[in-house]
Amino acid sequence: MLPVSDYHMHTPLCGHASGAPQAYARQAVKAGLAQIGFSDHAPLLSHKDPTITMDRSQLPIYHHMIERVRAEFNDTLKVLVGIEADFIPGFEEQTRSLLAEYPYDYVIGSVHFIEKWGFDDPIQMKEWDIRDVNEVYRDYNRLLRQSAQARLFDILAHIDLVKKFDFRPTVDMTAEIEENARVFKKTGVVIEINTSGLRKPVQEIYPSLHDLKLYCAQGIPITFGSDAHRPEDVGSHFDKGVELALAAGYKEYVLFEKRKIVGTAALI
Ligand code: ZN
Ligand code: FE
Ligand code: FE
Ligand code: ZN
Repeated sequence: MLPVSDYHMHTPLCGHASGAPQAYARQAVKAGLAQIGFSDHAPLLSHKDPTITMDRSQLPIYHHMIERVRAEFNDTLKVLVGIEADFIPGFEEQTRSLLAEYPYDYVIGSVHFIEKWGFDDPIQMKEWDIRDVNEVYRDYNRLLRQSAQARLFDILAHIDLVKKFDFRPTVDMTAEIEENARVFKKTGVVIEINTSGLRKPVQEIYPSLHDLKLYCAQGIPITFGSDAHRPEDVGSHFDKGVELALAAGYKEYVLFEKRKIVGTAALI
């Protein structure tokens, strides 16, 4: 059975997504989804960059936009309001107060930066040439654990995003992932099956089957997200996402409302 919910999609407010939120909702209905949640990039608190996140002044517009979609699709689709917030060490309290300004159904936490380096940004890709790949992977996983420990987020996004450009570690990272799983368990955070990796050079869902098995063994719950930045990607490759989740040992995924898990749905 395909997941009924897609919890990760963007709006043009972030500066690098296209299509009206209504078009995302229409695509969701077409794809047979019962609920969607918007999770556009929250204003970056470390520095402004209109090409990667909305500005703080746009937050009211974001919420207003989603309210309108919710009203319009009232009969056909449940529309949740989420947000994808960057984890930047040192900005935890500012992030907390930003997230407290509006009610959310869930908050997705993301690691897109190692210090100031946007390691998944195509424009900053050259930096990979001068970095030690294994160090990058260790730094990334350490930040992921810190992001869980900050207790700012309900769901962690694309938890092996570091593989996006297919630069691979040369040593076994299993111990890092096992440590992630322990920390996620302890902090009660949920992880995401994010199908957008299939549209990226790595051509793989986030996270990998190897990692997902370790997370499943610890009982870390999952959600599904397409990370759509254009309407046609809503719900994309969810068949492959289910296949992966089942192969890792998952039997169900969770549903959110008002920052709480409100139910589970079976994968088969
Ligand atoms: Zn984005
Ligand atoms: Fe992201
Ligand atoms: Fe995203
Ligand atoms: Zn994302």
